[in-house]
Amino acid sequence: MGVDKETAVLLIFTGGTISMSEDPTNGALRPIDFDRLQEFLPELKNTGIRLKTIPFLPLIDSSDVHPPVWEEIATIIQKNYDEYDGFVVLHGTDTMAYSASALSFMLENLSKPVIFTGAQLPIGMMRSDAKENLLTAIEIATAKENGQAIVPEVCIFFEDTLFRGNRTTKKNAEHFSAFNSYNYPPLAKAGVHIKYFRSYIHYPAAGTKLRVRTHIDQNIAILKIFPGITEQTVNAILHIPDLKAIVLESFGTGNAPRRAWFYNLLKDATERGILIVNKTQCSTGSVEMGRYETSINLVNAGIMSGYDSTTEALVTKLMYLLGEFPSLDDVKHKLSVSMCGEMTVI
Ligand code: ASP
Repeated sequence: MGVDKETAVLLIFTGGTISMSEDPTNGALRPIDFDRLQEFLPELKNTGIRLKTIPFLPLIDSSDVHPPVWEEIATIIQKNYDEYDGFVVLHGTDTMAYSASALSFMLENLSKPVIFTGAQLPIGMMRSDAKENLLTAIEIATAKENGQAIVPEVCIFFEDTLFRGNRTTKKNAEHFSAFNSYNYPPLAKAGVHIKYFRSYIHYPAAGTKLRVRTHIDQNIAILKIFPGITEQTVNAILHIPDLKAIVLESFGTGNAPRRAWFYNLLKDATERGILIVNKTQCSTGSVEMGRYETSINLVNAGIMSGYDSTTEALVTKLMYLLGEFPSLDDVKHKLSVSMCGEMTVI
């Protein structure tokens, strides 16, 4: 392992706290110019790696990220794929797990690392976590063994841990350890050495080529149930014009109230061709429809299991599948299998 002279990494700089400073007029954090940002990172000149940066102009807070940004990141990677050994995407933490999930679906047969990272404190601040996150992400993006990338996946690196992107959720708005992957082990840990856990890393099938798919359909919604949710609320969500799919956030192992109106509304929606996928509100564990009486109705209403997927993975998988595959049967089939390690089917 190690970095040779020919190694090249493309930094795609979208924005986020890593790139922000305080606005003197109101004290709010907002992205600064890309040129100023480079002043804070003299280390980048001495890595021995050929680094090129493509900044978004202007840099953005990740709360403003939407599907066209995913498309832009995917297209930049596609255009530069042959020229670089790996890609690092600097991105705000707020929606990083959505973007990493979306890219994991859009970049089919990926054989090079795409490592998302960012920071909880701006790069110009004394205690910022930015440099460590960025420099380690670059090292991971270049790590090879026998000429092959060690982690050819879309990942999130934060603090000291490398996660599979589509298994990750932002868990903390305060600590440097901002992310977790509740249902899948880390892919690497960074201490004095970076330790890779190869048996958990996904490798593309031999002989496959990168295929980038960028069509997204945003006609989906999340229906999070709670004790006391009303018929009017559920009815309104299930009748959103042009709605094609719902992530149903249920209780425990995928349970929901057994009221007749609730069942009838869900059944009517699936009969109208709306896809409904069951996702537990718990962070850890899986949907197991049929385990309790309170989920048997959901099976009868034609609802599919999201098993142990994150909400971020389900939202982006649905948008991607509905955008790319016109046949409802194709979409249903792909939803029921793990496409790139995003869920464990039980
Ligand atoms: N609001 C910021 C963003 O997501 C937070 C961060 O980067 O940590 O862009």
